[in-house]
Amino acid sequence: MARDTTTDVAIIGGGFTGLWTAWFLSHQRPELGITVLEQDICGGGPSGRNGGFASGWWDELDGLIKLYGVEPAVRACRALSASIEGIGAFCAENNVDAWFRHSGYMYAATNSHHEEACREMVELAASVDAPDELRALSAAEVQARCASPAFRTGAFMKDGAQVQPARLARGLRRAVLERGVTIHEGTRALRLEAGPSVVTTGGTVRAKQVVLAVNAWATAWPKLARRIAAWSSYIVLTAPAPEKLEQIRWTGGELITDLRHSVRYFRTTPDGRIAFGGGGGRASAHIDDSFTNDIRAVRQAAEGFRLFFPSWSEIPIEDAWGGPIDVSPTHLPVFGTLEGGNVHYALGFTGNGVAPSHLAGQALADLVAGEQTEMTRLPMVNAKPRLFPPEPLRSIGAAVVRRAIISYDTAEERGRRPNPLASVVAKLPRRMGYLLGPE
Ligand SMILES: Cc1cc2nc3c(=O)[nH]c(=O)nc-3n(C[C@H](O)[C@H](O)[C@H](O)COP(=O)(O)OP(=O)(O)OC[C@H]3O[C@@H](n4cnc5c(N)ncnc54)[C@H](O)[C@@H]3O)c2cc1C
Repeated sequence: MARDTTTDVAIIGGGFTGLWTAWFLSHQRPELGITVLEQDICGGGPSGRNGGFASGWWDELDGLIKLYGVEPAVRACRALSASIEGIGAFCAENNVDAWFRHSGYMYAATNSHHEEACREMVELAASVDAPDELRALSAAEVQARCASPAFRTGAFMKDGAQVQPARLARGLRRAVLERGVTIHEGTRALRLEAGPSVVTTGGTVRAKQVVLAVNAWATAWPKLARRIAAWSSYIVLTAPAPEKLEQIRWTGGELITDLRHSVRYFRTTPDGRIAFGGGGGRASAHIDDSFTNDIRAVRQAAEGFRLFFPSWSEIPIEDAWGGPIDVSPTHLPVFGTLEGGNVHYALGFTGNGVAPSHLAGQALADLVAGEQTEMTRLPMVNAKPRLFPPEPLRSIGAAVVRRAIISYDTAEERGRRPNPLASVVAKLPRRMGYLLGPE
């Protein structure tokens, strides 16, 4: 952007949340001028660099029920199931080749505690009359989908599709441009002023409504900062080895995670690679280099990969990257409108925003349009905010707790008793009423 401008709706952030909001709003209210402001390029943040898991919320049912009760929780899960289908339909209808493949999501337990957690998840889904959404897998069934010496029993969730996230983000960008949306890339929003006006690095945008779709960067926005903590997540990518995928029988395209609190997530690609994420990562108050350039976190992700797939020891790791995730106190996102009524937000995806951002986009479009819909009645819309402590406690606490959780997870994985201090610290968030970390 090179000069001051006016628009009806200014959307700050050109990731999935901002772009889906623009997409849905441009259909709902074609008469509105919509302007997306992105500091990088659209999809340059986590939306273009994530693991590509478009997954459901049946595994989050316990938290959803604790927060909102059974009926709203199940309604939210069903809405997210529809979003996964919606992403596939969007790609098909708009010629976006984002390698969308709906092949399901497997949990692979790697120790007895995780097996127990898996059983509880499956039982909970059955108890709300959704037994087909999440079902138990025997050890043989797990190995038949993906053979690893680390895996024991598991569970299978129908709601899981893989996407190539950068292709989806860039496809969405093209599609919203075709709808007449204006996009200014390389344009950083510096602050919001009354009006509302967005002061950017390229001039001021006067708008009637503003949408904050800045994900982990919300730590820099005073009204949202305490609703999240920023942690990093890293992925390593192997060279193509389709013959090795055949050997371990992982040809079905399933998304897979273990059940660590600092979860490891992994998937295949159409050219026969494994993308493997998780493991390490840091917490910090500001989104800086440590979120994209942290060799320790890359090594930890690689160690996890080598542990789970020893038969791939000869296959080189060709690439690695990372990005920030916006951890919310509830492990779930919230969407809503700030006091004053003309600034809307969605945040707190906690590393699981590929499918939920599609839901957020619909809810935000409805909030901007001022319509009461199924989306604005979702329980996370304008839910009472849960807050982390103020700075500097928030980022120091997040960094310490993050390390403790990783240490706790690693000890548990190796069959050792977690260090007593790490154990106390890792369990602190639950004691403080947050839905994070071990019980
Ligand atoms: C390594 C990694 C792996 C992940 N894997 C998965 C996964 O497999 N499945 C899943 O569901 N989720 C995953 N996630 C999380 C997922 O990527 C996010 O939840 C999702 O992309 C959120 O979309 P968003 O549009 O809200 O945020 P973002 O993609 O972060 O978009 C926000 C945008 O706002 C821009 N911005 C910020 N501040 C400003 C400003 N002041 N002015 C202008 N622009 C600004 C940023 O540059 C950014 O492009 C992963 C995240 C990471 C980092």
